[in-house]
Amino acid sequence: MIEIINLTKTYEKSKKTLRDVNITIEDGEFVFVMGRSGSGKSTLIRLLLKEVEPTEGRIIVNDMDLGRMPRRYIPKYRRKLGVVFQDFRLLKDRNVYENVAFAQRVIGASGRAIRESVPEMLRLVGLSAKYKSYPHQLSGGEQQRVAIARALINRPEVLLADEPTGNLDPQNAIEIMRLLDEINRQGTTVIVVTHSREIVDMMAKRVITIDRGMVIGDTKESGYED
Ligand code: ADP
Ligand code: MG
Repeated sequence: MIEIINLTKTYEKSKKTLRDVNITIEDGEFVFVMGRSGSGKSTLIRLLLKEVEPTEGRIIVNDMDLGRMPRRYIPKYRRKLGVVFQDFRLLKDRNVYENVAFAQRVIGASGRAIRESVPEMLRLVGLSAKYKSYPHQLSGGEQQRVAIARALINRPEVLLADEPTGNLDPQNAIEIMRLLDEINRQGTTVIVVTHSREIVDMMAKRVITIDRGMVIGDTKESGYED
């Protein structure tokens, strides 16, 4: 469970990027965070990753208060989270297989574990046939699938996606959303940041709306049930 409690974030004095945000996300939920550009969505993701610290308030993940977490525990904590971004962030000089395997290698997985998991993950995202391709040989939608496979390879509990369809055409965007839905059905908590009303309407999931740093709507709070 993720609890964001009375959270305020101020990067620079006077301007509050996030203001008194309260959000609870249960294990296994699929949640959209929707808001216009500059409303503070990416800041929320960065706070969850413990890349930036709250100015006020707390974030508690699985009963662990991020503000009290010892520095040495941060890498282990981050492994509970998979992240994908709008711009994919793949390694350009490595093929699909290597991009996914790399994420597993850096945490010290055995060669055998990698040879087992990578094909399985590429199957999940529908890219088995392209395992030898390099990023520049793939469409945007395919590149995002690789990024999703990489984000999931170490079996995180939560997948954070910051505008994952921002660089994709509508058809690819829909397919990526279906994939995220499937991943959620398999048990991973999924948090998707978007500014697209179309995407949110299509998916019929919980939507937390942020405007100028404040939560102005949460379909769950208003009695919406999945
Ligand atoms: P969104 O992802 O919704 O577009 P962001 O969280 O990226 O919003 O940014 C929200 C606000 O916080 C913006 O006004 C932005 O300029 C400001 N901001 C974000 N990151 C920083 C930073 N590192 N330093 C100062 N201001 C920042
Ligand atoms: Mg952003």
